[in-house]
Amino acid sequence: MKSEKQRRLEIKQRRLARAKSMVNVYNAYVPLQKAPVDAVLADLSILESNNNTYGSLPQFYVDRPFACRKCAAEEVWTAKQQKWWYEVAHGDINTIAVHCRSCRMAERKRVEEARHASAEGMRKKQEALLRGRGNVGTN
Ligand SMILES: [Zn+2]
Repeated sequence: MKSEKQRRLEIKQRRLARAKSMVNVYNAYVPLQKAPVDAVLADLSILESNNNTYGSLPQFYVDRPFACRKCAAEEVWTAKQQKWWYEVAHGDINTIAVHCRSCRMAERKRVEEARHASAEGMRKKQEALLRGRGNVGTN
């Protein structure tokens, strides 16, 4: 019997293979009538108000494969994630996913820890100043 984890991995791999097989088709402009059944429709009014471009805006999104810029892992940037990025997060239409999920999570963690450490440092400095033992020199 297959484990849940293995099953998820297989689904992920199938999705990646499918996205890869379609990459040449959807790099070119494709009219809406020829969108695949699992394409996610784009909201052109949102895209037009977010982007200062009269270039081609997508009419729909399809899963796109990409290799992580940091660890080279192959991953799918799903149609749904693209819609969120361009229409909800207002990402520029010329930007695409560059980092895989685990690298993004690691980076988020790193930034959060750095912010935490910096806030902690500020707090300690403030306390030291209040106690009159700050590193503000007096001659
Ligand atoms: Zn990565």
